[in-house]
Amino acid sequence: MNLNIKADKAQTYDAIVVGSGMTGGWAAKELTEKGLKVLVVERGYELKHVEDYKTAMKDPWEFEHRGKIPIVAAEEHYATMYFSAKEGSQYLYSNDKENPYIQKRPFNWIRAYHTGGKSLLWGKHTYRWNREDFLANAKQGLGVDWPIRYDDLIPWYNYVEKFVGISGQAEGLAVLPDSNFLPPMAMTAPEIHLKKSVAQKLNRPITIGRVAHLTKPQPWHTAVGRASCQFRNRCSRGCPFGAYFSSLAATIPAARQTNRLTIVHNAIVKEIILDDKAQKAKGVRVIDQNTLEVREFYAKLIFLNAGTIGSTSILMNSKSARFPNGLGNDSDQLGRNLMDHHLAIGARADIEGFEDDYFFGARPGSLYIPRFRNWGNDKRDYLRGFGYQGGASRADWSRGATETGFGADFKKKMTQPGPWKINLSGFGEVLPNPNNRFYLSEDQKDKWGLPQIVFDADFGENERAMRKDIMNDGAEMLEAAGFKNVVPYDNPVAHMGLGIHEMGTARMGKDPKTSVLNKFNQVHACKNVFVTDGSAMTSASNVNPSLTYMALTARAASYAVEQLKAGSL
Ligand SMILES: Cc1cc2nc3c(=O)[nH]c(=O)nc-3n(C[C@H](O)[C@H](O)[C@H](O)COP(=O)(O)OP(=O)(O)OC[C@H]3O[C@@H](n4cnc5c(N)ncnc54)[C@H](O)[C@@H]3O)c2cc1C
Ligand code: SF4
Repeated sequence: MNLNIKADKAQTYDAIVVGSGMTGGWAAKELTEKGLKVLVVERGYELKHVEDYKTAMKDPWEFEHRGKIPIVAAEEHYATMYFSAKEGSQYLYSNDKENPYIQKRPFNWIRAYHTGGKSLLWGKHTYRWNREDFLANAKQGLGVDWPIRYDDLIPWYNYVEKFVGISGQAEGLAVLPDSNFLPPMAMTAPEIHLKKSVAQKLNRPITIGRVAHLTKPQPWHTAVGRASCQFRNRCSRGCPFGAYFSSLAATIPAARQTNRLTIVHNAIVKEIILDDKAQKAKGVRVIDQNTLEVREFYAKLIFLNAGTIGSTSILMNSKSARFPNGLGNDSDQLGRNLMDHHLAIGARADIEGFEDDYFFGARPGSLYIPRFRNWGNDKRDYLRGFGYQGGASRADWSRGATETGFGADFKKKMTQPGPWKINLSGFGEVLPNPNNRFYLSEDQKDKWGLPQIVFDADFGENERAMRKDIMNDGAEMLEAAGFKNVVPYDNPVAHMGLGIHEMGTARMGKDPKTSVLNKFNQVHACKNVFVTDGSAMTSASNVNPSLTYMALTARAASYAVEQLKAGSL
């Protein structure tokens, strides 16, 4: 008998964090630093910082397919992420065939099942949401009102930004609040020209992208082993310098330094185990991804950080007498209001007159053009707005793939910098809509016996109306700068998921009847479960979301530890 008690004790921690990605890393860091013994449960394989970035130092000619994923392999295994993955970064993306899902309507679900999750894939664009982002739902009567305001997050934005390290330029704009910045990266000569022209002729500001790269590492960055960015733009293969922020390079090492962190890999959390009597979670049930063995781990506090779809599907799978439709789903909101950003739209152009201008190194990141529509006195026939990322650079040797020629002259030509080109790519806000959703399939399962996810979501009239402006305004700005051959574009196959910012499905709100989480990301009806990734979002803003997820996570962790210490959980 005693043996069982001992075994349970060995599997018992103060807190369990599900997922080791962008937000799971923050939960692990905050909870361990506040004295808790923490278990991180990660469904994927163990990826080791530096030593597992096997392609990071390779040159283009060392790749069998010169950096591209062959179409046959892409169609069979990686259809979902073909647009963003390359031969050197393929190992960081999950295989669609092994991890199937159902698209009732088209949806790209990109996953990274390994330590660090998608913090190894992200583009590092890091922006605060603005005051209006937290007010828009209430003002426009859409979705539900946020239970917090921008002011609630300011201290947490400050706190997270310092540790992350964000390169950028302060602009003093209400629409794009400044972060605490490391030195900005430089704009290229045509970008400076664009910035001046657009300011003069259209009165719109342009800033250098705010990106999570260490341009001037501070002591708290080097303390976890991170170093300065080398401007080699091979980030998508993993950065051996730890120069861009990932949980693998930053938050997990910080949590390890406390000696209070344990990580278990290849462990798929199937469900949360509920103590029906106490109306509290008592642990998680996991399936070993290789052996299918089922195990249980126990804790007083559970943080779900398995990514938007991952966390909500764990809640949906956690059925009990009290929660027959999924843990915390009294409101029937689980899975609803799935949001993303809509993209694959903008304008591009050729640039003449800058042939004597060069740039040094390969800058990661791009320009950023903050939202200007439906802002201030501007009023459109749609709601909310959009921003642009993009920039001007010179074509490199790879342009040789589409140019005719051969022999020594051709090779010599390819060693010279090519013509300047520019692209502005829009990111638009998607409105909350209860009919945009995902749910669990009743009959189709994956190889671990878990129900497959069914996506049923699409853009609506508001997004489609906004797209016209994204395209035309982009072209207008390139024309204002006098660039040539301006081409507005709108990719007709753009659909949900392509924006790679999936969010919503377990929203925060004031009223348990219409939301899943309260203002501290705590499940209304099960107080020791916190969900602090994108699933908590009540609206989507138009700026990249990860900084806000990280700030929410740090804030929720601080509150959870206070509550735990006060005996309220
Ligand atoms: C190509 C690309 C570019 C992007 N660029 C940007 C950008 O520039 N700026 C920005 O703000 N955002 C960007 N994003 C989005 C960003 O990556 C995500 O917002 C962020 O990683 C989400 O953090 P997370 O912790 O919720 O999920 P993740 O980082 O995905 O981590 C989730 C973790 O949970 C694990 N997990 C999942 N299910 C389970 C389970 N059942 N049991 C145990 N573990 C589980 C996963 O294996 C994973 O490790 C980009 C995304 C992609 C794909
Ligand atoms: S550009 Fe900077 S962050 Fe990216 S791989 Fe190079 S050193 Fe790392």
